[in-house]
Amino acid sequence: MPRMRRKKKKSRKFVGRKKPCKFCITKIHVVDYKNTDLLLRFVNDRGKIAPRRITGTCAQHQRILVRAIKRARYIALLPFVREQYRQSGDVKRWKSY
Ligand SMILES: [Zn+2]
Repeated sequence: MPRMRRKKKKSRKFVGRKKPCKFCITKIHVVDYKNTDLLLRFVNDRGKIAPRRITGTCAQHQRILVRAIKRARYIALLPFVREQYRQSGDVKRWKSY
């Protein structure tokens, strides 16, 4: 079985061109943590920060972006975890204690 899994991983090739960094194109060097509309584009439905391989953001801008998202979370502009996920599953288990 492990042999098969390794084979599968090898066959997954990179297809197409690399996505350009949105911040490099627009020449934005400072990401505003108050700009939630922008920040929400780099956060998935659970409130997690999207990895670079998905958004195509370059390393430099990803670092700036992550700092902005974390800052926005801290002052409650962005959620750490989305409401609908907080209410389901695990939380109910905690209440039974
Ligand atoms: Zn960039």
